[in-house]
Amino acid sequence: MNKLLIWDIDGTILDCKGCGRKALSHAFKELYGHENAFSDVDLTGKIDIEVIEEIVNKYGVQNFNNHEFTKEYGEILKRIMEITEGVKLIDGVENFLRKYSNEKYYYLSIATGNCKVGAKGKLTHCDVNHYFKTGAYGDEARNRKELVSVAIENAKRYYQVDFLKENIYYLGDTPKDIEAAKFNEVKSIALSTGFYSYDVLNEHEPDYLLTDLRDLKIVDRIFK
Ligand SMILES: [Mg+2]
Repeated sequence: MNKLLIWDIDGTILDCKGCGRKALSHAFKELYGHENAFSDVDLTGKIDIEVIEEIVNKYGVQNFNNHEFTKEYGEILKRIMEITEGVKLIDGVENFLRKYSNEKYYYLSIATGNCKVGAKGKLTHCDVNHYFKTGAYGDEARNRKELVSVAIENAKRYYQVDFLKENIYYLGDTPKDIEAAKFNEVKSIALSTGFYSYDVLNEHEPDYLLTDLRDLKIVDRIFK
């Protein structure tokens, strides 16, 4: 049976060491002159557009241009990642992607709060962008629930496969990822590899909860 595995990025695929937040602040300073605008904002589980809107409103920026901002952000993000130590894939992810990208009946996708340029920049930096030919990004939806719906539709169209809801999984590291999976009636695989602990994620009752993806035998059992 065809299975669609949709991935969150930050805290799930990779640890960006705060480069995204830094790059958002730098780009905002560069274009609109406000320093450290994103340093205190809660980014976990949110999508870029929600966060950027919050900051634009907070500073009352009148001439905000999202296209210009994300372009600047993408370029700055690339430079910051190159000079930041420790930006890396989360343990077990590489083996997982290598295995399931080669397995028949398994299809990969992305549903990330990152705007497309940010998502592609982060995945490319960690050398896993080639695994993700389709997905939904933080500039294509208003919130994460909608984002997962868009990712499913995009994947169906791209792969020409009509995935059944029971065979769609959303892998993420925050309660918002679990909620988005529930809202779309797909399975959630929560991973305590990001900001939230195993116990906190457990309170949100994901379908599956793992400390990480290092043991592929455990992962195999989920999909059987
Ligand atoms: Mg995340």
